[in-house]
Amino acid sequence: MAYRVALGGFLHETNTFGPSKAEYADFVQGGGYMPLARGPALLENCRGINLGISGAVDHGQEAGWDMAPLLWTGAIPSAHVTREAFERISGEIIERLREAGTLDGVFLDLHGAMVCEHLDDGEGELLSRVRDVVGPDVPIAASLDLHGNITARMVELADILVGFRTYPHVDMAETGSRAAQALTRMMQSRRPIAKAYRRLPYLVPISWQSTDLEPGAGLYRLVAELERDDVVSTSLFMGFPAADFPDCGPVAIAYAGTADAAQTAVERVVRAYEQAEGAFVGPVYDAESGVAEAMRLVREGVSGPVVLADTQDNPGAGGDSNTTGMLRALVAVGAEEAAIGLMVDPHAAAQAHQAGEGAEIFLSLGGQSGVPDDAPYTLRVTVETLADGKLTAPGPFYGGARLDLGPSACLRVGGVRIVVTSRKAQMADREMFRFVGISPEEASLLVVKSSTHFRADFAPIASAILICTAPGPMAFSPADLPWRRLAPGMRLFPLGETYGTQ
Ligand SMILES: [Zn+2]
Repeated sequence: MAYRVALGGFLHETNTFGPSKAEYADFVQGGGYMPLARGPALLENCRGINLGISGAVDHGQEAGWDMAPLLWTGAIPSAHVTREAFERISGEIIERLREAGTLDGVFLDLHGAMVCEHLDDGEGELLSRVRDVVGPDVPIAASLDLHGNITARMVELADILVGFRTYPHVDMAETGSRAAQALTRMMQSRRPIAKAYRRLPYLVPISWQSTDLEPGAGLYRLVAELERDDVVSTSLFMGFPAADFPDCGPVAIAYAGTADAAQTAVERVVRAYEQAEGAFVGPVYDAESGVAEAMRLVREGVSGPVVLADTQDNPGAGGDSNTTGMLRALVAVGAEEAAIGLMVDPHAAAQAHQAGEGAEIFLSLGGQSGVPDDAPYTLRVTVETLADGKLTAPGPFYGGARLDLGPSACLRVGGVRIVVTSRKAQMADREMFRFVGISPEEASLLVVKSSTHFRADFAPIASAILICTAPGPMAFSPADLPWRRLAPGMRLFPLGETYGTQ
């Protein structure tokens, strides 16, 4: 007989220091994720894209699950999820779960770093409510983001938590599939598996967490290698180092046939993570020196664009994608064949649409972050192209997801082109330049409002990648954030200062 499995998802990465909260409407719209979907539409809409739920549904179909689709939703990272949004979404998930009848298993697609206005551990609370409905014996499996801040409550309430192994997250769907396969095995064996987990002692800036670079690449090779013999699953969660609550930080976790095997796998990851601490290093530039270095490389005749990551305004980490520091630096030096995106400013986009293609207009662009040293930028631009903002992002990060960026435009000032949109999404796909007529391959300088995900689609064309720290709401270094509630003893930077010792 087919296993009856309920599937749902509720994803948010919370930067408690960020400028704006996640409202219910942000979840409905999806901002870089697929829009909110419920019931049978969930199974339909997630097909063929790079999300945990997509991989789980694929496995469920192969394994012949009788699927009860609940509700799936995700909003772009920001400050806290509002109480209203959390209660409304989790309320509907629970209501649909009750209506799903007798279940053999539950699959959840979660992020792992959700903090709400009224509670610290969004996923722990959701898991607890799901557990209350299904009882202690129905296995619950979840796939999670590599940036999950995994709490003891989550580990206790779920039967298995499986994390991404890549950053850029090109394995979201694959991770969903791995978690779903583990769920099938648990439903077959009807035996709980042993779990072990350990908190790890230091935070890493997200720009240095990339698994395209060492030591991240090696750490995740080890995590995959440990998954053999009796070990069912091993994960290393790097954590999201901008959520101010005591469980923020990295965690190693393993599941195995025996407690000893799970413990041994976790200890191996802990040792490797401790040994890697000194290897998390790399050059970082302020806006002016980053642009100067990029111009020097271009003059040297590098082949392919120099890509500058405006990491402190990454909307994938809670920024609003509208700071002006990098744009000012490009304009100040008269950069040629340069492009920057996304600059999210619905008012400026509307002005461009009103003026029409070819018009020259004065406008005040971006700069609403409230961060010291950032301000709206008043300049004269040419409206080169207008677009409705609907596009398919085919690169390896978005994996074919359809984005709706709202009314958009390509504005030009001198040799600098600016992609202005009305809605936020992380610049992680070359199509997000192309849809307004910019050919990223032909540019000399590309500024992307992203920390790491851009690498998936831009590294193949980049002659160099420079991490830049123009003023913005997502501090490059966790040590620069005004922590108040972190667990004492956590190092705020690799080999850096320890929280709570002064
Ligand atoms: Zn992530």
